[in-house]
Amino acid sequence: MRTSMLGVCWDVHSSHAHGAALGPGAIRQALWDEAGNRYSLSLVDALDTSMLVDRGDVALTGGEGDADLITAAAFDILDGGDQLLALGGDHAVTYPLIRAVASLYPGVRIVHIDAHPDLYHDFGADPLSHASPFARIMEQGLASQLIQIGIRADTPHLREQAQRFGVQSFSPDQIGRALAAVAALGDGPVYLSFDLDGLDPAFAPGVNHYEPGGLTVREALSVIHALPGRLVGADIVELVPGRDLQNATAKVAARLVKELVARMALRD
Ligand code: MN
Ligand code: MN
Repeated sequence: MRTSMLGVCWDVHSSHAHGAALGPGAIRQALWDEAGNRYSLSLVDALDTSMLVDRGDVALTGGEGDADLITAAAFDILDGGDQLLALGGDHAVTYPLIRAVASLYPGVRIVHIDAHPDLYHDFGADPLSHASPFARIMEQGLASQLIQIGIRADTPHLREQAQRFGVQSFSPDQIGRALAAVAALGDGPVYLSFDLDGLDPAFAPGVNHYEPGGLTVREALSVIHALPGRLVGADIVELVPGRDLQNATAKVAARLVKELVARMALRD
């Protein structure tokens, strides 16, 4: 199955600092860098147009309707039969994306890599806050299962929310158990939401919210390779190019794109 890549340059729902709207451009630049490698670790030519099509950026207006525009653009791709690979933007992009995914794949299961659970019921009186997408998704029943990996910025409220929604939550030192939970998902549609701050800042310094003690790139790749079922969609979010060092984080994101394209192509 072919992957359609969609940029979502949207960071107005970030809580403390902005800059993630520039993420898609930086990831594309790293992806098509002539000095880079086109292949996934399994030797799929991820940049071949039969594998990956770039659908450009969602045409946002800066207005209230932007969430609906994101949902509509994602729906178009999925409804056309391609798999969706969205580039954020901050993590607020995931709720409108999942609205599209769930309308075609009700009860989709989500694997979510992040330092933060992003389950706040109310953060700064903004229901679309990048700290809340998974609260919106779970309270509306858009996903039947949520596995969070890399979590290390919990609070009593967030722990309560995780219990309320039956979330399976794993800290970075529980990576072995996390991989087993991912493998146990079995057949059926799966979606991967990848916040780059789930990685240790040593590997991914180009993010706004540093939480040391995170996942290695290898551990994150092993999560991708452990995904069972049909990977119908994914997002890579929270890259802030203005905080990156030598494009290291953009390069990590480009590697994730190649592995996700290969994963979407090989098992459908
Ligand atoms: Mn997040
Ligand atoms: Mn995060």
